[in-house]
Amino acid sequence: MVYRYNFNAGPGALPKEVLEEAQAELQSFQGMGASIMEISHRSKAYEAIHFEAQQLIRELMGLSQDYEVLFLHGGASLQFSMVPLNFLTEGKAAGYVHCGTWSGKAWQEAGKIGETRLLASGMETGFKQMPDLSRLPLSGDMAYVHLISNETIGGIQCHSFPDTGEVPLVVDMSSDIFSRPIDATPFSFIYAGAQKNLGPAGVTIAIVRRSLLECIPDTIPDILSYRIHAKHRSLYNTPPVFSIYMVNLVLKWIVKQGGVQGIGARNRQKADLLYNVLDNSGGFYEGLAYKDNRSIMNVTFRAHNPEIENRLLDELEQEGFLGLKGHRDAGHLRASIYNAVTYEQCKALSDFLIGFQRSNG
Ligand SMILES: *Cc1c(COP(=O)(O)O)cnc(C)c1O
Repeated sequence: MVYRYNFNAGPGALPKEVLEEAQAELQSFQGMGASIMEISHRSKAYEAIHFEAQQLIRELMGLSQDYEVLFLHGGASLQFSMVPLNFLTEGKAAGYVHCGTWSGKAWQEAGKIGETRLLASGMETGFKQMPDLSRLPLSGDMAYVHLISNETIGGIQCHSFPDTGEVPLVVDMSSDIFSRPIDATPFSFIYAGAQKNLGPAGVTIAIVRRSLLECIPDTIPDILSYRIHAKHRSLYNTPPVFSIYMVNLVLKWIVKQGGVQGIGARNRQKADLLYNVLDNSGGFYEGLAYKDNRSIMNVTFRAHNPEIENRLLDELEQEGFLGLKGHRDAGHLRASIYNAVTYEQCKALSDFLIGFQRSNG
């Protein structure tokens, strides 16, 4: 198995330029004679990387001073528990939108901590469609509403977000952060594990509205408190220094690509390329998600019969197109075309799919 093209769902592809940069200074960071992994996280050299990465996130998202940027441990999955521990206070209920595997997990974990309410579900359509977010049954006793902007496994994505008024809106953007321009102002809390669009596993980015920090109870452990992490500028304990360093390099790479505008336009072209192959295949291939909710990050599809599909997966692997087998919950095929996957790589995949249909159709 040799990678020529990386379509992995997560951890996903990283920009080649970033890997080269990291390699060049792996043993001697900025000529110091030691790597970034071997120096104090309290050193000036590390701090510069850490705070620069936070600043780049601010600039790329256009965040106002109302928000704090945090680096956390434990993956996006820890946020499924940390969000309710911090925000689901006594006497309140948390609203969840269920649109696939990850949002189901988030909802389930929150239920262990406090009262939850299911506000909308995509279950009836087999999670092939985002539920209607325009008429969520909100009420005054709600601690927050939790959404997932891109369901990585089913390949569906929110193309607009609900107005939740006074109720804070929380969103898991693990698989589409910085993939397109997003206005942060409707959100009170945004989080994303880094390993899909931002860097290696090990760090989770969180963006929190400062006014929410004040209401966090003192009774939760410090290591799980957003207020404590904010107070220490995400240096409460040893942060995942190498992951944050890599995120810093990826953020600078995004800036060089024309920021989220530039990346977003390219991602749209990459996704269109693949969806067009599916739609023009006369039923040989079929996209799994409903058209209006298709993800520009995870293209889920199937071939018209299982035997052909298995042959396709085998041939893809032989040709070095890797990571295309769908998640065990969804099956079929999935091309994850995160920021670091190039247009040329998507073109190679689309050409391959067209050729495969020609020889097997
Ligand atoms: C991958 C993923 C997660 C889980 O991330 P971990 O960092 O492995 O905990 C959560 N939510 C979404 C939307 C994801 O794509």
